[in-house]
Amino acid sequence: MRILALLLCLVGGLLSAAPTKQPNIVFIFSDDHAYQAISAYGDARKLIQTPNIDRIANEGMRFDRALVTNSICGPSRAVILTGKYSHLNGFFNNSNSVFDGTQLTFPKLLQKSGYQTAIIGKWHLVSDPTGFDFWQVLPGQGVYYNPPMKNAQGMVKMQGYVTDVVTDLSLDWVSKRDKSKPFMLMLQHKAPHREWEPNIKDLGFDKDRVYPEPATLFDDYADRAKAVAENDMTLEKTITPKDVKLVRPPQMDAEQAAVWDAYYEPRNEAYRKANPQGKDLVRWRYQRYMHDYLATVKSVDDNVGRVLKYLEDEGLTENTIVVYSSDQGFYLGEHGWFDKRWIFEESVRTPLLVRWPGVTKPGSVSKALVSNVDYAQTFLDMAGLPSPVGMQGRSLKPILAGETPADWRKEFYYHYYEYPKPHHVAPHYGVITDRYKLVRYYGNGETKTDLFDGEKDPLELKSFYGQPGYESVQADLEARLAKLRADLKVPEVDDEFATGVKRRTPPAGKNAGKGKGKGKKAPAAK
Ligand code: CA
Repeated sequence: MRILALLLCLVGGLLSAAPTKQPNIVFIFSDDHAYQAISAYGDARKLIQTPNIDRIANEGMRFDRALVTNSICGPSRAVILTGKYSHLNGFFNNSNSVFDGTQLTFPKLLQKSGYQTAIIGKWHLVSDPTGFDFWQVLPGQGVYYNPPMKNAQGMVKMQGYVTDVVTDLSLDWVSKRDKSKPFMLMLQHKAPHREWEPNIKDLGFDKDRVYPEPATLFDDYADRAKAVAENDMTLEKTITPKDVKLVRPPQMDAEQAAVWDAYYEPRNEAYRKANPQGKDLVRWRYQRYMHDYLATVKSVDDNVGRVLKYLEDEGLTENTIVVYSSDQGFYLGEHGWFDKRWIFEESVRTPLLVRWPGVTKPGSVSKALVSNVDYAQTFLDMAGLPSPVGMQGRSLKPILAGETPADWRKEFYYHYYEYPKPHHVAPHYGVITDRYKLVRYYGNGETKTDLFDGEKDPLELKSFYGQPGYESVQADLEARLAKLRADLKVPEVDDEFATGVKRRTPPAGKNAGKGKGKGKKAPAAK
């Protein structure tokens, strides 16, 4: 018996000491891609088929509760790079935040450990990328047609459709890499961001299909805080003629413009003639919006297919982890909205699909509360590197390997800041559990709390805050919220934090843990 144990011990030791090849990581990241527009997520409206993105889910894991900490573009990207919430990484909003590139990020750590690193496509963090051997990014939001891009040498003008261009550049970089080293590529699409401009070759792809409307298209915003009604992101009031393709985008060349006009003009003429009003106008806009948004998604899916095929052709599939995600979710007409920002389901939830051959069981699904704040530590763990002190997420590796740790988070903290422009969504923060959300809105002159019960009210149309029968639920959520804010070192809310308007430079944690009346020191982040 003793000899057998000794032998097992020796074999185990040899196995664990054997050098493991670090996997390549391809992070395909889109902008504003709603999970409702990925067929692997099985949306009731069956808006689109995305066979290539679905392949990542079918050959890997689909995360059904991947949440973001602050549902807008730049902030989500800063969280992913740093593994820290906005109040610690200093990037609160898209209006005036500038990313402090001297911070510790996961690409820097991968690079230091011998990875070749690149970021190509949408960046949206104002300062130049750091931690990458190669970068070529869209300035600001970028444009869909013939996009100017920026790299370490300066500006370059690209010809073609942005989703194709970003994929071309990415595959080119991979093909020219040093094959003796692992690589980490961040392939980041502009699409399907506003103004949802399709590749001209995809115009007509849906054959003028009439899309089912969401149940909440004509939400009256009753039974919730005033803040919910006050926002400016509706199909009824906010959407512009450019958004709905009554105006042609200026960046097209003559050939592209001719195809565009031939497609849109007859349809626009029919619209002008019909001149719909009121609810009919909202319905028309919803159809046009879905048509264009989904066409941009089709191109993303086609290009995901190109990447998967490239990996296959090059024999890279087995040792390359492929991740598909978006910087947040998006409203596809739910509550009458487009855009994101809210703690509500369609915007706080983001797609997350991971294929990791040999580790993740094909076709598996996780319902664990995971987040974009976990990505940095996950990528480091995938490469066999430890989590640095101060990062606030947790590696998803055990979940991907099929074992959700018993002490995995049961509640999640959310905080949105950007106000009043551009969409007049009041700053708010809250706690999310499997079933409930407690939301505190502030900074719009109305400090109010709503409580949502996902079981009784899955469409989030009614607050149960202060309702009989919710006393203990409410107290429990309040306690969890206070603990999360302490654990995550969230400063007390003040006007400066409410909008971030005074803040051009990151606080670099100088306000961390300065909260009034907490009465105890916040424990170190895990
Ligand atoms: Ca976005």
